[in-house]
Amino acid sequence: MSMDGKHTGPAGHLQQEAGDMGVYMSGVEILNNMGCGICVCSTEEKLLFANEKFCGFFGGRLDGKTVKLLLAQALDKEQQESSGELYIEEDDRWFDVHRREIRWVDQKLVDLYTVYDITETKRYQQKIEKQANNDFLTGLYNRMRCEKDLEAQISLTRENGGEGALMYMDLDDFKHINDGLGHQYGDVLLRAISHSLQRISGIESTCYRMGGDEFIIIVTDKKFSMLDRILEDIREIFEKPWFLKGADYYCTMSMGIARFPSDGDTVQELIKKADLALLEAKKAGKNRYEFYNEEADGVSFKRLDLEKNMRNATMNACHEFEVFYQPIVDVSKPGNPCMGAEALIRWNCEKLGFISPAEFIPLAEYLGLINPIGDHVLLQACHHCKKWNDAGHPEYKVNVNLSVVQLLRNDMVDRVREVLEETGLNPANLTLEVTESLAINDMTRMKTILKQIKELGVRVALDDFGTGYSSLNHIREMPVDVIKIDRCFIEDLGRDEFADAFVRIVCELAAVIGMNVCVEGVEYQRQYEILKNMQIQMIQGFYFDKPMRSEEFEKKYV
Ligand code: C2E
Ligand code: MG
Ligand code: MG
Repeated sequence: MSMDGKHTGPAGHLQQEAGDMGVYMSGVEILNNMGCGICVCSTEEKLLFANEKFCGFFGGRLDGKTVKLLLAQALDKEQQESSGELYIEEDDRWFDVHRREIRWVDQKLVDLYTVYDITETKRYQQKIEKQANNDFLTGLYNRMRCEKDLEAQISLTRENGGEGALMYMDLDDFKHINDGLGHQYGDVLLRAISHSLQRISGIESTCYRMGGDEFIIIVTDKKFSMLDRILEDIREIFEKPWFLKGADYYCTMSMGIARFPSDGDTVQELIKKADLALLEAKKAGKNRYEFYNEEADGVSFKRLDLEKNMRNATMNACHEFEVFYQPIVDVSKPGNPCMGAEALIRWNCEKLGFISPAEFIPLAEYLGLINPIGDHVLLQACHHCKKWNDAGHPEYKVNVNLSVVQLLRNDMVDRVREVLEETGLNPANLTLEVTESLAINDMTRMKTILKQIKELGVRVALDDFGTGYSSLNHIREMPVDVIKIDRCFIEDLGRDEFADAFVRIVCELAAVIGMNVCVEGVEYQRQYEILKNMQIQMIQGFYFDKPMRSEEFEKKYV
């Protein structure tokens, strides 16, 4: 048979049934005008008939052997009657293929194929699936798809006996970029990060955006041996700055990793455990990853408890949060008189007992509860200081710690102004302690806010100086009044030349640029002796006194 329209084979067949040439012609007409492609092949792989539609579908591939091979991809070999889908990559088209055996005019069994073009339906389906599975902003898969894939991966890994990993990633302080530069730049950053993640070999198709600045990456059992390299590649993405709005911005991430099936074999359990490990990473100072471990599990239950109780305590007017005061003494004057105190929060939780700030402040920041808790401390501290000032110590100052989350709040400056008005405290007697956070290059924003705070007449101290990112060059530009040298340098005083030199140099430098220095964590006489020779004005530490309740402070110092 030829494909030029002279259908000798089928002619006989139709003629036989219709017994008339006219009917034969109209029979071919009918077949040619059907919406589906039709072809007939002999068992010897000879093409006996193909209608126009079929020729249109498979134009260049029309010999019996090729057609059979092609269509066979979609069909079940064993079954006489079978149907399935066929994708032709070169043409990017989809077909629905059906085969059944019929008897040909010569009574031999032949294969009749009917083929429907389902490309449009398929494309539509894919579009709908994509919409359901993909994150609109970044193009990554979304949470729904993540849960589906994770479930499949878990059972695959269980069957294969291998190991896989779930990485839960959260950008550090992403809020700063969003609040500082505007959402459109936050979006640009999210897209850029997503793009970079997808280019890491081994996880190209297993990166998901869970919403906000949270991502999940699945490392399948086949790629698990590459885990270290994948982690290294992810780390590298965040080492470089991103160019946004004309400047370089750094953005770091924290990540929690849970392994499956060893750490858990359900979607919920794994995500929960990776999330707990993520919180550990945040608590350990951000910009790092932590693996979930069993030992921390007790801790994790405590964390859930902590979270619930902290929400309750915050809603309950913060009664359980008590503010303690640790005196700061003036060592430049005879008798080392007290010159005020640092306010340090204590959580006396009714259900869980006493919890230190180092333990709950990071969680409060993470949960967004630091704002109400911080407001409570600020109000209490200003209120108490005003009381001391009125009771005969007008020079006493109070220091209040502000977390970066609070500092970058849009209404922080207003809040400080309101508290000063409400308590009547002299602004010069309030010092706000901030720490440097250069995780994101938000120095400009930080400086602007600090300047606004200083315009209120409030003083600013740079806390924990010498740890993290501080650079001596930086402090010149920072609108701060006091540098608080971190305790770790004081611990090593007299034992480590670097610590001695560091403290001395910072003091000299501060004197040159007109800043005061406060030294924290002085516990022993020997440390005090060394510091006395360094022209330091303020010292805070157990050597003089511990943090205490306001009543006790008043009894001793007011
Ligand atoms: P920080 O601001 O650097 O506070 C000094 C910490 O050192 C306090 O720990 C204090 O009790 C401790 N300390 C003082 N003198 C000595 C000493 O001689 N030896 C030793 N070993 N430690 C000394 P604390 O009260 O546990 O607070 C820990 C951190 O929690 C604070 O570090 C501060 O970053 C944060 N924090 C405390 N209260 C607040 C608050 O109200 N808001 C915020 N955002 N953070 C707070
Ligand atoms: Mg402090
Ligand atoms: Mg400190």
